[in-house]
Amino acid sequence: MQDGLEQELKDKRIRVLQTGVAGERGVRFAAIVNQLKHFHGRSGLGAVMGAKRLKAIVVRGSKPPVAADKDGARGTLTWFKEHYDRSKDRFHVYGTAGGIPSLEASGILPTRNFRDGSFEHFRAISGQTMAETILVNRGTCYACAVACKREVAVPELDVTPKYGGPEYESLAASGSLCGVGDLKALAKINQLLAQYVLDSISTGAVIAFAMECYEHGILTRSDTGGVELTWGNAAAVEQMTHLIGRREGIGRLLGEGVKRAAAALGRGAERFALHVKGQELPMHDPRGKKGLSLAYALSPTGADHMEAPHDPLYEGFHAQGHPLGPLGLIEPVKTLDLGPRKVRAFYLTQQVWSLYNSVGMCDFVGTPLNALDLEKLVGYVNSVTGWNMSLYEMLKVGERANTLMRLFNCREGFTPEDDLLPQRMHEGIGNGALKGERVDPEQFLAARRLYYEMAGWDPETGRPTAARLAELDVEVPAAAPA
Ligand code: SF4
Repeated sequence: MQDGLEQELKDKRIRVLQTGVAGERGVRFAAIVNQLKHFHGRSGLGAVMGAKRLKAIVVRGSKPPVAADKDGARGTLTWFKEHYDRSKDRFHVYGTAGGIPSLEASGILPTRNFRDGSFEHFRAISGQTMAETILVNRGTCYACAVACKREVAVPELDVTPKYGGPEYESLAASGSLCGVGDLKALAKINQLLAQYVLDSISTGAVIAFAMECYEHGILTRSDTGGVELTWGNAAAVEQMTHLIGRREGIGRLLGEGVKRAAAALGRGAERFALHVKGQELPMHDPRGKKGLSLAYALSPTGADHMEAPHDPLYEGFHAQGHPLGPLGLIEPVKTLDLGPRKVRAFYLTQQVWSLYNSVGMCDFVGTPLNALDLEKLVGYVNSVTGWNMSLYEMLKVGERANTLMRLFNCREGFTPEDDLLPQRMHEGIGNGALKGERVDPEQFLAARRLYYEMAGWDPETGRPTAARLAELDVEVPAAAPA
């Protein structure tokens, strides 16, 4: 498709945003891809394109972007380069999969559909092993100094760097979550996910769900077309990826996502369907990072690991000046804590992450994961736009965006019943360093209620109150339900 469009338009400098066969055929978690390897995953936006019969959007830039204050904008970029050292940044050196060994050590590497937190083949699928074996280049989004992306080649499996390389989420979802520890096979599966333009998290998660159903006899070989859907069977994961991408055979059912597939199967399959609001869980375990239980339950789009920084960062708060100090976060908060301090840390940092979404800022470049601190970001936005906003005003942008998304969901009929975790999160992790750790249901509900109250949402209905809407200067049209 990309090559065909370049030939048809006789222009190699076009940029193509497209969905793939999965989006055309209505797989509910189809994604959108930019230039074959930059993905807009989660929430099934590719299925929306497919439903609208929109295959691709092609653009060709002709003018450079111009900042209102060129010197100011350039000054911030120079500052970033001076304060950022690629050679010491694990995102650059090992990519997102460089965190696999520490997740394993912490006992929270999602394994066998979140039954376990420790995976015996963790090292084989890590970013460190990738760097030593199949990595051929460190890719990047346009002009990014961090360059966290991977490009891999496995000639014997026809895996080419044209489609980039696997991120952590993809390696864990198709890998440890399905019990697969073969990096080359995972690189092949990753390429298939790219070619069908599938969300790699949801695809791996729905295959892991199917594996557990198979283990319990809810799915059989006659359902799978003869495929042995057993943990660790890389060929089976590859075959299922094809079937889901093409929406053929059992892929029709699995392409509906775990929530709908479990409802269709019945016989207790719901117990193995790990999702929030119909979106499959990402590859981070809230039982070992308790703030994530709020992130997963409260994200407007269903389980999402990019709502706020993860808990280990909260352990590093102190009063001597740290990147999130301007928010008033100065007391360290333990990773397994789900008390009021954790709720506050999550609530405040969620606004930063929402601000990043609002200005198109990558979480791996901004603070606290990288060097661009909040004041510098504010200065940069002002230099580019010509505005004169303060950090306070910008954080309010993030809070307002979260509140507007909440209002949207309330209008669409979502209630606190949708702000819950799958039952497995309230059961103990099966093995590893945090064996037996769980999210206590009462503690979770108390934390959720406190969050509602902090956010100015009615604790019973979860709806933003009139007072909070007035404070955020949000007007609800009279026609909308009160
Ligand atoms: S750090 Fe962010 S912007 Fe840079 S290459 Fe990685 S994902 Fe892209």
